[in-house]
Amino acid sequence: MDSFKALVVSRDEETKEQSVAEATLTPADLMEGDVDIRVEYSTVNYKDGLAITGKLPVVRRFPMIPGIDFAGTVEASTHADFKAGDKVVLNGWGVGETHLGAYSQMARVSGDWLIPLPDGFTGAEAMAIGTAGYTAMLAVMALERQGVAAGSGPIVVTGAAGGVGSVAVSLLSRLGHEVIAVTGRAHEHDYLRGLGASDILDRAELSAPPKLLGKERWAGAIDAVGGNTLANVLAMTRRGGAVAACGNAGGMDLPTSVAPFILRGVSLIGIDSVYQPKPRRIEAWSRLARDLDRDKLAAITTTLPFSGLVNAAHDILAGKVRGRLVVEID
Ligand code: NDP
Repeated sequence: MDSFKALVVSRDEETKEQSVAEATLTPADLMEGDVDIRVEYSTVNYKDGLAITGKLPVVRRFPMIPGIDFAGTVEASTHADFKAGDKVVLNGWGVGETHLGAYSQMARVSGDWLIPLPDGFTGAEAMAIGTAGYTAMLAVMALERQGVAAGSGPIVVTGAAGGVGSVAVSLLSRLGHEVIAVTGRAHEHDYLRGLGASDILDRAELSAPPKLLGKERWAGAIDAVGGNTLANVLAMTRRGGAVAACGNAGGMDLPTSVAPFILRGVSLIGIDSVYQPKPRRIEAWSRLARDLDRDKLAAITTTLPFSGLVNAAHDILAGKVRGRLVVEID
């Protein structure tokens, strides 16, 4: 490819104002890496919304091509694990934050960051899952390592109609868990029941400052929200239960106490998808191939063209996106 289209975020060094525009680049504009990839699909995660709009300082190198996930085909490689024609997936590793990212017809990255496109998935399906879905799987695996299994009791999922939440609800219900979905969107109750939620809570029920301990309501939790929501989730987790903290859609703070930990033995597990070691990534993707219902994946997915990226970034930060977005890059 002599030249290719990309979405580029720039910053005015005097005003520190961030701007975004489509640009035509050449391979010489890309950063170091031993694999060149023709990007076919990407997605829009919450973090991509932050990067495109500049609402939080996610981008740490300018100019930047945002986009933390891609699926595509290797064009050239000097990495031992990959050759031209291989189908690959990338999630995280600072791509779209410190390394030029996915919203581009061409990407150049370290082969150590790539995994083969998991068996049984198309590139579009892999991006329908994307970082949000792979994070939901990491969270399920973390709960399992804490002994939270089907039959342990209800699992609560916050931010349920969003990307992490929709995949988490789908996965947990397929695995036989009773799922309580927490959402602020009353019009998405049928959608969440369709994904397998057996009970739904209004997010307002968990948004007030928490008591030290509340009624024991669930055996585990996957939280995409943080803030008072996560603190309330902890205060209402049963003795010996576990909570996987994935996100901060409702805030970065955590106004909790030690009570859930020392009086009920609750575990709080942090999930970092970005720098997850490769074996755990491959395990998560093979679990997704086994445990995620493809019809539900299709039901949570909306596809948009490259030209829709900037609007989608604003929409996801405004809480208007349901489920997952796939972006056609070509
Ligand atoms: P989405 O925007 O798709 O989902 C977030 C959901 O959170 C919304 O749909 C909404 O759900 C709920 N929400 C939004 N604002 C608030 C609020 N103020 N108070 C309570 N609930 C709110 O984002 P993603 O699913 O892509 O990401 C979710 C979070 O997880 C983000 O913070 C993201 O940065 C983080 N994340 C972390 C990763 C990691 O490696 N740890 C990887 C991927 C994501 P509803 O409408 O149902 O109420």
